[in-house]
Amino acid sequence: MADKAKGKQRKVTVSCQFCLTLNRVDIGRVNHSPKCGSCGKPILLDRPVRVTDDDFQQVIKGAEVPVMVDFYADWCAPCKVMAPVLDEFAHAHIGEVLVAKLNTDMNPRVAQQYGIRGIPTMIVFKNGEEAARRTGAVPREDLEKLLASA
Ligand SMILES: [Zn+2]
Repeated sequence: MADKAKGKQRKVTVSCQFCLTLNRVDIGRVNHSPKCGSCGKPILLDRPVRVTDDDFQQVIKGAEVPVMVDFYADWCAPCKVMAPVLDEFAHAHIGEVLVAKLNTDMNPRVAQQYGIRGIPTMIVFKNGEEAARRTGAVPREDLEKLLASA
């Protein structure tokens, strides 16, 4: 285990966006183009991954890196403003942070569990626990600060 801690391996659990099967992948090795163990399609980690009521706990608890979750809804204009900022953030932190998006309308259980009152809300999870939170559309620098404060 000591060797593993020193190595670059950073495992995360994410669901395949095509078949929804949960996959365990090493995001420290994204250049190796991980593929879904079930359908064989690529697992794309340079952009936010979708999380749902069903897989949320497995994703945040299964990540060996911080997870930033964007709680959003399709009708929310500030959420649309945040979307490209989060895409950029995910791309910049590839291999270091797992960026995930949760649609609060389709996944009310998780939204209620974390007391989401305004959207967008970004929460950083570390070791499965909430470590930092920010509500409202914010510039990229504020996401960096949020991550640093977690
Ligand atoms: Zn798949």
